[in-house]
Amino acid sequence: MKHTLPLAALAAAVASLSFADEAAPAAEAVAPAPGTIRMITEATFPPYEFRQGKEVVGIDVEICKAVAKELGKTLAVEDVEFDSVIPSLIAGKAELAAAGITVTEDRKMKVDFSHPYVRTGIVFIFAKDKPFDAEKAEEAKGKRVGVQNGTTSADYVREKLGQEPEMFDSPASAFAAMKAGKVDVVIADIDPAKAVIKGEPDYDISELLTVEEYAIAIKKGQPELLAVLNKVIDDLDASGKLDEIKDEWTAKAEAAAAAEEAAKPAEEAKAACACADCKDESCDKAACGCAK
Ligand code: GLN
Repeated sequence: MKHTLPLAALAAAVASLSFADEAAPAAEAVAPAPGTIRMITEATFPPYEFRQGKEVVGIDVEICKAVAKELGKTLAVEDVEFDSVIPSLIAGKAELAAAGITVTEDRKMKVDFSHPYVRTGIVFIFAKDKPFDAEKAEEAKGKRVGVQNGTTSADYVREKLGQEPEMFDSPASAFAAMKAGKVDVVIADIDPAKAVIKGEPDYDISELLTVEEYAIAIKKGQPELLAVLNKVIDDLDASGKLDEIKDEWTAKAEAAAAAEEAAKPAEEAKAACACADCKDESCDKAACGCAK
């Protein structure tokens, strides 16, 4: 009976087997443009993927560009919520999923993973006057713990702390909620956590709570594509290029965050401008940048 299930129905059935935190609305499978290979990601995760203007850039994008080059194709990048990345890949919306995705046993049942390209883990992000220690992680039990939706940080809160996390759509928005007093502590992957506390002297990160590895995910049953991915990653690693990419994009993500920080007063001033027309009597000419 199972063997007669049409492929599309099978894909839908597999997608619906996703765990609750990875459920997503059914994505339409569309073929890539000719000569293109698509990477699906979630671009709030510096230095792996972040936005520079309209463009999504970062370590994962560089690795996927190398894969595209090996295949003689150009890379197209699609940005979705993190908990939609794997379901969208399974549904055929992209050929590669690269989003700082940790290899887990659950995910291995749904997708195939390349060789890992980063060894990393998750940390607490905390206010220095209310520190959280990786050695005494159980002290976070009963506290409001903010995480990004669908991540291994969310799994950690459920499995190790035995409670439901507070969900956010990015490490940065979980951190903003902590600053606003809405959560007590945040858990996130160490690299985006470092990016988030940059320029925030009252906050710090703990030692690692877990050891995890990132890899690129593809739909199951594509041994040739998997071999290409592994060759590209192994070559980048052996030649030292992988380390160069990591250093380069870590520096670029830091520069982008610093530029954003510097632009904040101007943005705030714009927000304070409430009039539609500089000729209005009530218009705050300085805040609105009106000519004097
Ligand atoms: N590495 C974490 C995970 O795979 C978080 C990834 C992310 O938020 N982009 O769950």
